Amino acid sequence: MTDEKLLELALDARKNAYVPYSGYAVGAALLAEDGRVFTGCNVENAAYGNTLCAERTALVKAVSEGCRRFIKIAIASAGSAPYPCGACRQSLYEFAPELEVLVTWDGNVARAPLGELLPHGFGPSSLGK
Ligand code: ZN
Repeated sequence: MTDEKLLELALDARKNAYVPYSGYAVGAALLAEDGRVFTGCNVENAAYGNTLCAERTALVKAVSEGCRRFIKIAIASAGSAPYPCGACRQSLYEFAPELEVLVTWDGNVARAPLGELLPHGFGPSSLGK
């Protein structure tokens, strides 16, 4: 799976974003160690707190399908670099502290290791697991 293909899948997933309130559509494509890719989009809700980000949508889809090991995630939006929010960084860290994060917006691409986005992250090892 090339980075270009993963970014393309994130851009495709973005088309399904349900964002009537913010208008900020995001798509994500999460690459598992076994080669499977799980996509997600953000899903907003009139009760704002129920809104789910694209990254966690993809992650929950993967884990619910029995997949727990990940290599890379691509995240697509527009207007600014769509690095994951704090909640998504934490959720991704649970399963993949070494995850590589690719972001794309308006034709730009940037990348960062999750460990750089969430330094000194709290994960299973923090609880001795
Ligand atoms: Zn998020």
